[in-house]
Amino acid sequence: MLIKRPKGTQDIIPGTIEKWHYLEEQIHKVCREYGYQEIRTPVFEATELFQRGVGETTDIVNKEMYTFLDKGQRSITLRPEGTASVCRAYVENKLYAQTLPAKLYYLGPMFRYENTQAGRYRQFHQFGIEVLGADDPLVDVEVINLLWDFLQRLGLRGLQVHINSVGCPQCRAVHGEKLLAFLMDKKDKLCPDCLSRLTRNPMRILDCKNKDCQALITNAPTTLDTLCPSCRQHWEKVQHYLKLVNIDFMINPKLVRGLDYYQKTAFEVMAEGIGAQSAICGGGRYDGLVEEIGGPPTPGIGFAAGLERILAVMQNQKIEIEDRNKAGVMVAILGDKARQEGFRLAGQLRQKGIITLMDLMGRGLKGQLKYADRVGARYVLILGEEELAKGIIIVRDMKIGDQQEIALANTVEFIEKQINSSEFEI
Ligand code: ATP
Ligand code: MG
Repeated sequence: MLIKRPKGTQDIIPGTIEKWHYLEEQIHKVCREYGYQEIRTPVFEATELFQRGVGETTDIVNKEMYTFLDKGQRSITLRPEGTASVCRAYVENKLYAQTLPAKLYYLGPMFRYENTQAGRYRQFHQFGIEVLGADDPLVDVEVINLLWDFLQRLGLRGLQVHINSVGCPQCRAVHGEKLLAFLMDKKDKLCPDCLSRLTRNPMRILDCKNKDCQALITNAPTTLDTLCPSCRQHWEKVQHYLKLVNIDFMINPKLVRGLDYYQKTAFEVMAEGIGAQSAICGGGRYDGLVEEIGGPPTPGIGFAAGLERILAVMQNQKIEIEDRNKAGVMVAILGDKARQEGFRLAGQLRQKGIITLMDLMGRGLKGQLKYADRVGARYVLILGEEELAKGIIIVRDMKIGDQQEIALANTVEFIEKQINSSEFEI
């Protein structure tokens, strides 16, 4: 029987992988420009890291983790997100003893046992950044600015930045009480999830996707109503800096990120046209997290963006990327001697950085020309016994449809010159 890939996973095959390469290049580029450095952490971690770092009250930890015992009876979890791992690595490698803030980014697969649907997979990819060790509101805006820049450079349109402040544990306690009082006589109408949030993490009721709950909380007190003076000042400054860098934003007092450790700034970027899973990025400040997993008190802020969803927006908006894998040269050969000389020539062209292919299927000349067309080769070099004997080679320009003979010995130099000339376009 045919074995298929597991539910919720995808193969990224040629034809699509080019888009991933492009995205990844843009990520490395924008991060470099903003002074962020890449960090790579394991794809699996001790389960406890996520229990503590993501939080027991979240959907991720409650429902979505791929957790198993390894052969040594350790509880292992495939990482469902990147922040907890980055913070663990920050503590474990004592990055706090180096120049602060630590400005880190990551890129890679995440795993969540989800109900799969368009834009929601079990293995998906996130690009995220984390700034550890700086609590200035300017940092919050640098993080949002990097994200915004990245998305603009990709050419995405119709994006919205939603932003909120969820306060600190002190103001959240006040909010929790107010919310509880507000919900006192409405409790029975809450969904089972929200009922359990009522005692464990009441703020998250604001974010419930259940229609009945949403109706109930329309006029509920929000965290913005109860910010303490220091959180309020931070919140005002974030808005000020956002305006300074011309980022349009929408204040959404019901935006409460799923993770327990968020404090103060929370934000999301939403896209239109990709269906119900419209959040392409979520982020916020998590000043309590590093300490929670055993490190020194350290402010932190970051975001995670879903690459599948970004690619879905690009596809929806018909944003094309240039195909940089088109061959420069295809060497067409006829006969064994020519095959050997052609093979040598192909090697020399590749040394010059020119994408060069040759026939590996024993095709005739017609078949080879067809192949050259399919791989988008700009030039075909035709070499048979006759050309070899005369010490020449035929260069066919596939774009112009023209061909000429040149001295075999000058081939590499000739092609290099053609390709480097300003008119050259593949
Ligand atoms: P959602 O509300 O869509 O479940 P989330 O709050 O669980 O999102 P985060 O944990 O903040 O999402 O992850 C950040 C980003 O990663 C999301 O905005 C989304 O783009 C992407 N993402 C999250 N879960 C998935 C998934 N299962 N499949 C594909 N992308 C995902
Ligand atoms: Mg989710």
